[in-house]
Amino acid sequence: MKHNEGILIVVSGFSGAGKGTLMKKLVQEYAGYALSVSATTRAPRPGETDGVEYFFLNKDAFEEKIAEGGFVEYACYCGNYYGTPRDYVEKHLMEGRDVILEIEIQGALKIKEQYPTALLLFVMPPDAQELKRRLTGRGTEPPEVIKKRMERAVEEAEGVEEYDYIVVNDDLEQCVKQLHEIITAAHNTPFRNETFIETIRAELNVLAKGEK
Ligand code: 5GP
Repeated sequence: MKHNEGILIVVSGFSGAGKGTLMKKLVQEYAGYALSVSATTRAPRPGETDGVEYFFLNKDAFEEKIAEGGFVEYACYCGNYYGTPRDYVEKHLMEGRDVILEIEIQGALKIKEQYPTALLLFVMPPDAQELKRRLTGRGTEPPEVIKKRMERAVEEAEGVEEYDYIVVNDDLEQCVKQLHEIITAAHNTPFRNETFIETIRAELNVLAKGEK
């Protein structure tokens, strides 16, 4: 029987590219994904709940968790810490689930070092103007924060080639479908199916000998 192991999936993209909405829709529409909830020191936006969008920690609590080795990776982004809790990732990968991390590029590269088979996806806006429009239209960040995030996008754009695939978030439904298709295809790469391939080889050998 073909056996698929869980894939660690990293989704990055410029602030305002719509990753959050995409991820919510992906887990709603397709069963089986485990979406990791990160910890951060940034303040909650209106409507955000502790434990849902993020675990909101103060700087001391975050640094304590770093010291305990509680994060698989963490990074500083526009003046705040963000980190991926280790427990959640390890537990769900061990159970064979596909675990999604929605994180920025420094974190993505640290994940790639630790988990070389992780699948790295980068969400692009249809064009730069649209990104600025989305960031401004969100109405949750003051102009200086928007400026910082646009500057950060310029830096992050330099690292896109480190990723396995880009997806353009023009039409939300289409983009969710495409993300799911890429992940489904990734499950069929030979290196993620070594046990299955070895089993078939062994069975073929037995059958081929029997037919002599
Ligand atoms: P936001 O403040 O807009 O929610 O997130 C800012 C950036 O931090 C986004 O690019 C988001 O993907 C990233 N981010 C969220 N959680 C994590 C995390 O656990 N680790 C890292 N490295 N980045 C994260």
